[in-house]
Amino acid sequence: MRTPPEAASGTTRRCELAITTWGLHHGFMLGEGIVKGLAETARNFIGSYVEEDRLTTVQYPEERLPAKEAARNFPFLVFDGNDPHAGLRCVACQICEKECPPQCIYIEKSKDKKPDYVGKPQFYPAVFDIDVSVCMSCQICVEVCPFEAIKMDTEFELSNTDRFGGLLLNKHQLAKSNEAYHKIHPTEAAEVDGRLSAEKAKAEAKAKADAEAKAAAAKAAAPPPPKPALIPAT
Ligand code: SF4
Ligand code: SF4
Repeated sequence: MRTPPEAASGTTRRCELAITTWGLHHGFMLGEGIVKGLAETARNFIGSYVEEDRLTTVQYPEERLPAKEAARNFPFLVFDGNDPHAGLRCVACQICEKECPPQCIYIEKSKDKKPDYVGKPQFYPAVFDIDVSVCMSCQICVEVCPFEAIKMDTEFELSNTDRFGGLLLNKHQLAKSNEAYHKIHPTEAAEVDGRLSAEKAKAEAKAKADAEAKAAAAKAAAPPPPKPALIPAT
């Protein structure tokens, strides 16, 4: 059915009125947003001359902002104690090497073993290299490591004139102490320490229980002591 001309023109007028009202209202609101934004910019600009925390930039490299705890750049290898070789947590399982998307980790497993943090003999990386010119800082190596051995660093001043050799970091360059890890990511490092300590205590309790069970079994299997010889009566 066709709409009568009078009805159609009334509807059109109502629509035009509604559109005009909407346009005026939202136009004002859009303008209000721009004015608020400009006022905030002006407040920060003028305020930066009198209030330190309104400065959004620092004069790098003379001035540096402390790195955020959640910041990350390239991976490093954690070692416990003072000896980077003896305390290196990495057991050369090569999981991170397989999972690294751009394949920038290269590991060669040792022939011999050394004790890990619970005293269990484990292999270690004879070679552990990361090409940081290829690394994309995805942190997948950290996520997949079962030994809390690789973590993300926040160091970013790594520019080098040697594009190939200078950015290929070996295990000596990658090794950082657990204390350094605590400085970089204190919350995360404390949580890891707690977990490793619990695992160590559990392993020690199990070793002690196993030793006691072994000693009891050996005692039970031992032949009874010989009976003392009878002394004939005189
Ligand atoms: S952060 Fe990502 S790209 Fe870099 S070494 Fe780890 S897995 Fe590979
Ligand atoms: S860093 Fe972790 S995942 Fe990678 S080889 Fe060492 S122990 Fe395995």
